[in-house]
Amino acid sequence: MGSVAYSHQALAIANLTMADSLTASRWADLDRLLLRPGNLVGPGFEPGPELLDSLQNDLRVLVIGAGGLGCELLKDLALSGFGHIDVIDMDTIDVSNLNRQFLFRMQDVGKPKAEVAAQRVMQRVKGVTVVPHFCRIEEKDVSFYQDFQIIVLGLDSLEARSYINSVVCGFLEYEEDGSPNLATLKPLVDGGTEGFKGHARVIFPGITPCFHCSLWLFPPQVTFPLCTLAETPRSPAHCIEYAHLIQWGQERQGESFDADNPEHMKWIYDQAVKRGEQYNISGITYSLTQGVVKNIVPAIASTNAIVAATCALETLKIATMCSTGMDVYMQYTGTEGIYMRTVPHDKDPNCIMCSPGVPVEVDNTITLQKFLDQLLKDSRFKLKLSKPSVSYHDHNLYMQAPPVLEEMTRPNLQQSLLDLMDGNTVGVLNINDRRLTGVLRVRVTFKEGLDSIDMDTVGGG
Ligand SMILES: [Zn+2]
Repeated sequence: MGSVAYSHQALAIANLTMADSLTASRWADLDRLLLRPGNLVGPGFEPGPELLDSLQNDLRVLVIGAGGLGCELLKDLALSGFGHIDVIDMDTIDVSNLNRQFLFRMQDVGKPKAEVAAQRVMQRVKGVTVVPHFCRIEEKDVSFYQDFQIIVLGLDSLEARSYINSVVCGFLEYEEDGSPNLATLKPLVDGGTEGFKGHARVIFPGITPCFHCSLWLFPPQVTFPLCTLAETPRSPAHCIEYAHLIQWGQERQGESFDADNPEHMKWIYDQAVKRGEQYNISGITYSLTQGVVKNIVPAIASTNAIVAATCALETLKIATMCSTGMDVYMQYTGTEGIYMRTVPHDKDPNCIMCSPGVPVEVDNTITLQKFLDQLLKDSRFKLKLSKPSVSYHDHNLYMQAPPVLEEMTRPNLQQSLLDLMDGNTVGVLNINDRRLTGVLRVRVTFKEGLDSIDMDTVGGG
């Protein structure tokens, strides 16, 4: 009993000392999370000063996008103790950004967002290193993304999210038993806003739904039926879309429309005004033309701040396990009052990005034709496949039908499969066949010297 009383007393003293150091520390708020145990901590959480130390010195976080969300994210992460942040963005600063992208000033207009944002955050938050990358995300080697422990997305395009998702899902490897190899898992934290609406979510590829698993979440972009545009325009947007989608192709044949080219935009605007006069539709302005053509939704600073704060907090949770993470998708609506909820989503077991697929080992010199022969002989697929078509990511490697596509893809049959898969020694192929109800995912691993064995062993089944 004596020893229990003693340890209580020791604990009380320890708490007191800690309380003193809490008030003194620059990271007092963080200390409350990282130096004490709690009921809500994540699996394997060990409180102690090492956590802050690793946040500041070991961990590398990549922020993608230095716009409305990106500025908020960089500030939040730097102030949350993250010491090494990289930021990538291909844009330069526009005067219209200044109302919400608060790291930028008038004199920065025209300069790369990533560079100015990095500089500003380093000036304001002592001790943080922010490395800017002024380029497109596709310009970086895939290995660039491998170097970060967590990737945080502050993007406004589905294509860019999809691309990063496919990169991190590409890192994911599965164990023999079909469970994801945790060492290959790269967490993504994704934020998005549109006007007064926003979302934040956490993606652990192979464990929680990836971006591709829940593509259905994104509503299709607003489009107008072509017949309305052509026959019965009723709104300024109808006139603008007519000029954009129909007149441009008719009157400026062979020129591809560039929404960032002011002359192109002016042309669309002029045509739309003329069409408006014809149909007695007023209210067509140059900025509305830009908005309709570029599908611009007004950006709201507070939505960005709320979504970025949620993303930064989730990043901190993943990095330290100081709390269990969100499950898995947070929705925010600020149109009428404030509404926020978190919804668990299910993984798509047949997702072409993150599900394991049926493992198949092939020789690294195998051609696509020989690979197809091997599949047809494989006892696991024998009854399921008759005339398989094969694709890799977005590329049709071989299509059995229609005849035009068959002819186009036929030369690939004699190509090396490894080359067709961009030299990746592990990858997932999608197999379509009229005998299959859905897509068959086959996880191909290339090995050396399998050629002679393959046909015998696999053919036996
Ligand atoms: Zn998925």
